[in-house]
Amino acid sequence: MKILTVVGARPNFIKVAPLHQAFLSCPAIESKLVHTGQHYDASLSDVFFQQLNLPEPDYHLNISEGSQSQQTADILLKFEPVLAAEKPDWVLVIGDVTSTFACALSAKQAGIRVAHVEAGLRSGDDQMPEERNRILTDAMADLLFVTEQAGLDNLRQEGVSAGKIHFVGNVMIDSLIRFRTQANQLNTVGKMGFMPNDYVLMTMHRPSNVDTLAGLLRILNIVEVIAPRKTVLFSLHPRTKRSLIKHGLLERLSAIANSKLLEPQGYLEFLNLMEHATAIITDSGGIQEETTYLNVPCLTFRSSTERPVTVKLGTNHLLADLDPETVQLTVDEILAGRIKTGQIPPLWDGLAARRMAEVLCSQSTKPDTKVSRVIE
Ligand code: UDP
Repeated sequence: MKILTVVGARPNFIKVAPLHQAFLSCPAIESKLVHTGQHYDASLSDVFFQQLNLPEPDYHLNISEGSQSQQTADILLKFEPVLAAEKPDWVLVIGDVTSTFACALSAKQAGIRVAHVEAGLRSGDDQMPEERNRILTDAMADLLFVTEQAGLDNLRQEGVSAGKIHFVGNVMIDSLIRFRTQANQLNTVGKMGFMPNDYVLMTMHRPSNVDTLAGLLRILNIVEVIAPRKTVLFSLHPRTKRSLIKHGLLERLSAIANSKLLEPQGYLEFLNLMEHATAIITDSGGIQEETTYLNVPCLTFRSSTERPVTVKLGTNHLLADLDPETVQLTVDEILAGRIKTGQIPPLWDGLAARRMAEVLCSQSTKPDTKVSRVIE
């Protein structure tokens, strides 16, 4: 069985690592990797390939920078010849980025079956590009791998046939479990001169938070409110940095006392920083899950989450409006030790990738006659 797995952006690289391992140890699977180039710079891509022991991709589509529509169009044009050359049995797409949706569409147009990792998640907010990518990808997928109960419920409600859906666990947590010791040995926290539980870690990169002047000013306010209470370490996503520069706010942010701006961190460095943080403030999808596993309080600056188990069972709090007073009160509660203790959600046990490989191996490899017709 030949599987072509697509990655394009930072969270995809972290999620594909355990799948790559699971496919390697399954003789029935021939696995190839395609990198669309959606995230191409070294700090968001190369370092993850090195740290996560990922091989050079078999194909690099080198898509150009541009709007979501431009990138989608570019991927469609460049992925089609790869499909024609490889004729895979499955295209495996991960998460909710532009590459996920575009490659799923391209595969379906070539008559190739699609498996979606992290299916069924819904934020209910169709202003998020990720939400559109999730819904459209799930509508096309032939196999849907689910990380949490809400994913199952959403897909059932949308009428997806039960036989296509598999609750397998969370590959992002597979990576965390596998690399946690290595991350601790690296001791990024100590090397930066911090003690465990001595800082608040922050990331922000969603367009709704960082693309506007108003959003950036709210983020600045938050840092100004927290830094007098606890050191703030802010890992700056390139999108956020560009926007801060564009609005003339980068210097003001870097001048806030008791706060430190960091370049985007490698996976191991960031894992160590997360594990020992007093709390994390973020708008990331994956960090909500990682903090739940690590039992670290997480304040998510969004009005909804597609990962509700992190609120229900985990350590995640949703703070919709970036109101400095609410943030201050919540941080004060955390600093006073009044924190909600979380539980690890079902099947977040490090074995998700293995379960997916088993499901894939149990599928028929019989070539689809429609496939041969379309791609020959
Ligand atoms: N991450 C990282 N370095 C950083 C910030 C985040 O390695 O400086 C990791 C983080 O641990 C998580 C992933 O990147 O595994 C989340 O990616 P991101 O927030 O970009 O995407 P999202 O999850 O929101 O789609």
